[in-house]
Amino acid sequence: MKLIAVDLDGTLLTSDSLPSPEGLEAIREAVAKHHAVTLCTGRASFDANSLTGDLSIPIIASNGAEIYDRHGRLLRETPIAPDVAADAVRYLMKQQVYFEIFCPEAIYSPSDGEQKLQAEMDVLVSANPEVDRDQLWKSAQIQFIQFGFRGIDQPLQLLERGLPVYKLLVYTFDDDKLDEITRHFNAQAQVHTTSSSNHIIEVISTETDKGKALRFLAGHLGVDLSDTVVIGDSFNDISMFEVAGTKVAMGNAVDEIKRLSSMVTKSNNEHGVAYALRQLLKL
Ligand code: CA
Repeated sequence: MKLIAVDLDGTLLTSDSLPSPEGLEAIREAVAKHHAVTLCTGRASFDANSLTGDLSIPIIASNGAEIYDRHGRLLRETPIAPDVAADAVRYLMKQQVYFEIFCPEAIYSPSDGEQKLQAEMDVLVSANPEVDRDQLWKSAQIQFIQFGFRGIDQPLQLLERGLPVYKLLVYTFDDDKLDEITRHFNAQAQVHTTSSSNHIIEVISTETDKGKALRFLAGHLGVDLSDTVVIGDSFNDISMFEVAGTKVAMGNAVDEIKRLSSMVTKSNNEHGVAYALRQLLKL
């Protein structure tokens, strides 16, 4: 039995942000052959479920901060400590950037965030007229159509309710600001940052990454790490590529992931997950 961890965006999902039907079918066939398959994503668990609902497989969500078994029962969570999360939110409000707070039942984002992104995009496009504004906005809008997304006016009040914060996501078109925010969080002992896409950083507990989550789930299921397979495309997949037995880079993966891989499959739009699973598992 293998444990196969499949990333979503840029991996199982095509560029329309929907799962590849061929990929879903290959996952079903792998499960029918008694392999364990888990989705391993930066997305929230309810969002991942809304995309792949009837699969009934374990889910590693929020980059590893929440891990569920195939019945949807929470196995492990590693949220950001409440005081650290509150400080982080205060800092991000001062930085005047768009951000999201990933909690167990929803993704909260200050209601004026979309305006901030629009304003940054105006600056970017006026300095770089060759940039396609519509294309840029289309990529940003993926954020607002996440399942469970809710606008809020008072993010600090939300934290006072004591909700676990699995992840903070920052989206900015201002590269200097993104660098500064990344440095700010990476200098802290209790959190670190990762990234799944351009213009985005994700802030998570230092206890959290996809590699640690994969190691935990493998232990829970009694699977040796040498029998784990990971499929991914971006920087937040590096930690799981460092621990897995077999590492499959998508054809569209960043170079760092391709360098760490044992195999490069087709791109997400060419159903690379299905292609890799059929090769590796002889489906
Ligand atoms: Ca990805």
